[in-house]
Amino acid sequence: MNPDTLTDKAYLYLTQIDTLTNLPNRTYLMSELEEKFSLGDHPKTPTALLFIEFDDLARFNDTFGFDIDDQLILQLSEHIKLLLDVDDFLARVGNYQFAIASQRLQSEKSSGTLAKRIIHMLSEPFSVGENMFYVSASIGISFSSAEKNSAYRLLKTAENTMRHAQKDGKNYIAFTQYDVQPSLQKSVRLMGDLPAAIDNEEIYYVYQGQYSHKENRLNGAELLARWKHPQYGEVSPALFIPLAEQSGMIGPLTIKAIIEASRMFDKLKARGITDFSLSINISPVFLMESDFIETVQFLRQYYNLAGEKLNFEIMEDTLAHNMGNLAQLLEKIRDLGISIEIDDYGTGHTSLKYLENLPVDTLKVDKSFIRNIDKNRKRMALLKAIIDMSHALDIAVIAEGVETESEDRIIKKFKDITVQGYLYSKPEESAPFLDKLQTQ
Ligand code: C2E
Ligand code: CA
Ligand code: CA
Repeated sequence: MNPDTLTDKAYLYLTQIDTLTNLPNRTYLMSELEEKFSLGDHPKTPTALLFIEFDDLARFNDTFGFDIDDQLILQLSEHIKLLLDVDDFLARVGNYQFAIASQRLQSEKSSGTLAKRIIHMLSEPFSVGENMFYVSASIGISFSSAEKNSAYRLLKTAENTMRHAQKDGKNYIAFTQYDVQPSLQKSVRLMGDLPAAIDNEEIYYVYQGQYSHKENRLNGAELLARWKHPQYGEVSPALFIPLAEQSGMIGPLTIKAIIEASRMFDKLKARGITDFSLSINISPVFLMESDFIETVQFLRQYYNLAGEKLNFEIMEDTLAHNMGNLAQLLEKIRDLGISIEIDDYGTGHTSLKYLENLPVDTLKVDKSFIRNIDKNRKRMALLKAIIDMSHALDIAVIAEGVETESEDRIIKKFKDITVQGYLYSKPEESAPFLDKLQTQ
């Protein structure tokens, strides 16, 4: 359609309004914000931006076989509107994404209250046809300021903050903390400090146990990296792993983890604990390095890892993006006696079909699937489907992020499931972790 032939209003409607919800779209929101910011040198009152992303609603379509996501989006937009003031600006900024811009919510408290009300609203199921659906969301909140008053920047910062909340799954509302989020300068400093930190034990590993319901014991653990930085304090791995990937240090960091695992196997044996597995996170950046297999082969030999139960955790998304020689690469890892676990299963874009062709030993079902499983029948049905199909393919299942007794009770009903989460074991340093194992 030629825009020249349309009235201004119709043109605006077609390009700036989301047709499903009738809400402004991302472009409209951006121009609205730009207009606000251009009113003065800097906005007198800061604008709060809440960036909301709903968990992949399309997943329901796969299971129930019709366009449930559209109908849910429509209901969600209506419910959110009810929580807003007339001056708040609600936009649909992506498939499963909404944003709220507001000058009324100038403090963390007031914008946090709205975010909590949205999360609370989601605790009730939505009905579409005969089915009830529970929807969950992550919300990132950011504020404009005199120096940060570009619409693009405000939206991006809120979106990145939402990703952080989503990634560590610790809470589903997060505020941009300008002093915690690395400024460019801080990233550069951290990147520069990384090599020495890997060498001098500022970066170390903690252990999170994995509890087997079948064996009634912790029968394995995942190694998780920690960085105690002399100036910045605790730096999250969600922050420094990407820096390590960008600066070529992910190899040395992973080698450190493998050596640490070897030492831990010795400590376990010294305490009479055998038949115990250790899992290491393998970044796709390291996996794709040309000498990956040679490096692992060398370490395995040099650090006496043959015969130990070592697992490599590979994120699900890695599978979707590198289907080329990935199957052979995974085979080679397995030939070294190392098991393959698919991490964060359910968050990426693979299907169980991929697994038919890939040598995979274990699926780690992502915590977003597990959260509130006790209150969510549909989520339970999805987990059951994953477990049934995995078992048919001879693949073991670990449920990640189990936090409550009641979630655990549901999961326990499925046969042969291992659980990893705060309920059984919070990540801790090797000494207390070994003590815990000995007294179990
Ligand atoms: P991940 O591999 O998915 O690790 C699990 C994360 O979930 C850990 O966060 C863990 O502390 C947290 N978690 C465990 N149980 C629960 C629970 O019951 N509830 C909730 N809400 N969270 C739980 P952490 O240690 O901050 O690690 C974040 C991510 O950083 C990891 O996610 C992993 O992707 C990456 N990472 C950590 N260490 C390494 C490493 O040595 N190498 C690589 N490549 N990545 C690493
Ligand atoms: Ca992991
Ligand atoms: Ca995970």
